[in-house]
Amino acid sequence: MSTEPLGVVLRTTPLRESDLLVVLYTDSLGRVSAVARGARRSKVRFAGALSLLVLGRFQLGRPPRGDLWSLEGADVVRDWTHLSSNVFAVAHASYVAELVGAMLPLETPEPHALELIVALWDSLAEHGPSPAALRSVELALLDLAGHRPALEQCAACGEPDLATGAVFDPLRGGAICRRCAGSSRGPGIRPLDDATRAYLRAVLDFESPSAARALDADPRFAPGDRTAGRDALISMITSLVGKPLRSLEYIAKLGAAGRRPEP
Ligand SMILES: [Zn+2]
Repeated sequence: MSTEPLGVVLRTTPLRESDLLVVLYTDSLGRVSAVARGARRSKVRFAGALSLLVLGRFQLGRPPRGDLWSLEGADVVRDWTHLSSNVFAVAHASYVAELVGAMLPLETPEPHALELIVALWDSLAEHGPSPAALRSVELALLDLAGHRPALEQCAACGEPDLATGAVFDPLRGGAICRRCAGSSRGPGIRPLDDATRAYLRAVLDFESPSAARALDADPRFAPGDRTAGRDALISMITSLVGKPLRSLEYIAKLGAAGRRPEP
């Protein structure tokens, strides 16, 4: 069987002397792992398509009984690699690649996920890195993974009044009302005030990461609301993935080194 899906590279790992193990996210197959034979020796066959920030057309073949696809060739369809000199753009793009690789199941096509990745790259290219654009991608991926956080009512009992004493509980599915909060004891639980909840709901109102970036300068929200919203979503993603995300640690290091903007 062979196929030529549109896709992006999520990561590459050296394999044996001259091969690469390539993890792709494609429109028709979802996330797939493929071996690119000789890719470390000859780059011509893959035409520069085996890097982050490239949308490519990938020629995949599958041996009848093998688990891994074989990557026979690739062509660049669109290229955002001019962003490679911007450490924040690369950090945000790497983060989203890691999220897609960790949150979405193997070989389950979700064409919207590929559109999201491309939409984030477009947003980075047009407007630069944006925290709200990342929140928009995180919420969309949580939704695709079947874990959209409850923000309108208590995830445990459905209570719509979350004005006082509510918490965000990643394991129970998002906002938890004051009454149910007493039985929230897992990791990652944090207070959830109205302003943080309003910020996350506002992110959901935007169609694309690029549009959501309007919230970065929205005077209705304080920096603390944005940070609390970020931490709530990241706690949900981390509990879903079951391990810390390396690209997130890198973004935090950039922030700690006094470099702006923060995620
Ligand atoms: Zn409740």
